[in-house]
Amino acid sequence: MDKNYIDILGQRYLIRYVDCVNKEEPRKGEINFLTHEIRIDCTMPKDLQEQTLLHEVIHAIGDLLGIEELINNEGTVQSLSSALYCTFKDQVVSR
Ligand SMILES: [Zn+2]
Repeated sequence: MDKNYIDILGQRYLIRYVDCVNKEEPRKGEINFLTHEIRIDCTMPKDLQEQTLLHEVIHAIGDLLGIEELINNEGTVQSLSSALYCTFKDQVVSR
């Protein structure tokens, strides 16, 4: 099992890449706000793992800033993560 960390607004989250995120219901990823642990399904293609991580990071931002919409509204979070991922993926910025 691969271990990584990500800092979100000054808080350290452990990222675990696992074969099974949730035994009760199939999920691409999930976040635990209490233990600061993010679990990502490592059997998915790499770009889907990255997009899922972004999705969970947006949930964390919602929790840390107290934005209810970003904690509980999966549609909003998924739309935001897809839009941000597509915007920054393979982006070459030149000045
Ligand atoms: Zn979600």
